[in-house]
Amino acid sequence: MTNPLITRRRWLLSTCCAGLGIAIGKAAETIGSDIIDTEPYPSNANEALVRLKNGNQRFVDDKPRHAHENPSWRSLLIESQKPFATVVGCSDSRVPPELIFDVGFGDLFTIRLAGNIIAEDVIGSLQYAVAHLHTPLVVIMGHEGCGAVAATVEEILHKTKERKHIESLIKSIKPGLQKLDLKLEHDTLMRSAVEANVRWSMRELLALPEAKLAVKEKRVTLIGAIYELNTGRVRFLDL
Ligand SMILES: [Zn+2]
Repeated sequence: MTNPLITRRRWLLSTCCAGLGIAIGKAAETIGSDIIDTEPYPSNANEALVRLKNGNQRFVDDKPRHAHENPSWRSLLIESQKPFATVVGCSDSRVPPELIFDVGFGDLFTIRLAGNIIAEDVIGSLQYAVAHLHTPLVVIMGHEGCGAVAATVEEILHKTKERKHIESLIKSIKPGLQKLDLKLEHDTLMRSAVEANVRWSMRELLALPEAKLAVKEKRVTLIGAIYELNTGRVRFLDL
């Protein structure tokens, strides 16, 4: 039997928001008891950041609500998507953004590459997220214990060499680590390197004229973040 609530949602999409996916979350607050959302759907960067912080707090507290996962919710997303944030993260299996921020299907546009580097294809995906999906917030998220960053530090310290394609990752990361104090104790050095790499990715992104303009015009907010493996907490970086 057709769910009348879902049918109404599809009507909303087809009549007023077709192709844009506008207000998926707001409609979902009132449509269908199985997909009730207790938080308002973010409409700007500040609200998006609050949503991420609240979700990460639930994750840290081991009280995830796993919203936006069930078939009813997913059916709302068939025709369009309206993610409220873009996350550029590492491919590391221990750092899945949707779980870390306790969000579900359609909530985040995620781009993951080892070392959360700003490679050419990453830029293309980011451009799509901002220009077509209009995500108001872009998060560059590094993490403690990042293998790509560690390999880069190792190469700087000991002049080691990795395989050809891993070297291309290191080549992207290395410029951002040039000011590291190599005399730091190893764990401190690694933490500094991870943060320096996030800030380097942010600078690389802001060096692109289109990105710089989007930030300047406040069409998008760019923020850095570090995921702590031991606590599960995401530490957002001051600009
Ligand atoms: Zn990593």
